[in-house]
Amino acid sequence: MRVPMIAGNWKMNTTVADAVKLVTDIRPGVDHINNVDKVVCPPFVSLTAVKETLKGSTIKLGAQNMHFEEKGAFTGEVSPLMLAGLCEYVILGHSERRQYFGETNEIINKKVRAALKANLKPILCVGESLAQYDAGKTEAVVTDHVTGSLKDIAASASLVIAYEPVWAIGTGKAATSDQANNVIGMIRKVVAGIYGDTFAQSTRILYGGSVTADNIKELMSKPEIDGGLVGGASLKAESFISLVKQTSEVKK
Ligand code: PEP
Repeated sequence: MRVPMIAGNWKMNTTVADAVKLVTDIRPGVDHINNVDKVVCPPFVSLTAVKETLKGSTIKLGAQNMHFEEKGAFTGEVSPLMLAGLCEYVILGHSERRQYFGETNEIINKKVRAALKANLKPILCVGESLAQYDAGKTEAVVTDHVTGSLKDIAASASLVIAYEPVWAIGTGKAATSDQANNVIGMIRKVVAGIYGDTFAQSTRILYGGSVTADNIKELMSKPEIDGGLVGGASLKAESFISLVKQTSEVKK
């Protein structure tokens, strides 16, 4: 019932020319795969060029962040209205935003609500740090991220959640498939508790953190894991294509 998704978070990588080349190389490998949603999230400055390059493609486009205000004196920021005509998805609350840019649940919640108002689909990131994991606080932290970031949204909202344990991001140490499956199952229960079972069962919850072509099959074999939010392994066409192909096989 939930279409799996592989979303590439390119972070602060790729020039405009690199971004165009990357999607040009990805297209022939995945355009024909219809049982997986493919999303690429390049830097803001490449969105227009990548959108052009994706004309006629089944690959969807996302941004990596946005401000919650529609316009105004916020030098350097990008608003939901600016993104609305350009892309379908927007990553919000990534741990790097929480860690380096002071984003709190309250700020992220404003962004989620602003994105939904602009008909953008948030990919909301949640996840515990290594210290929180070691202290056995995963459930408490993730519950806090989910409830705080999703406060006061409509139960019909179209969004995606990504469970990304901070200790697994860019470290080469992915969560085991059982760990990820358990936490994602727990997140689904939290969401069901707030917005009901129908919403929880239809909302995709991805796993992110050192996903590669070597571990994707095992991760995607778990029933609660609806796909992957991928950093490093989304920056090479060959590995992104492999992630999509393997997900398509496992989830068919
Ligand atoms: C991410 O930043 O969302 C991520 C999961 O990165 P990586 O795949 O490189 O661990």
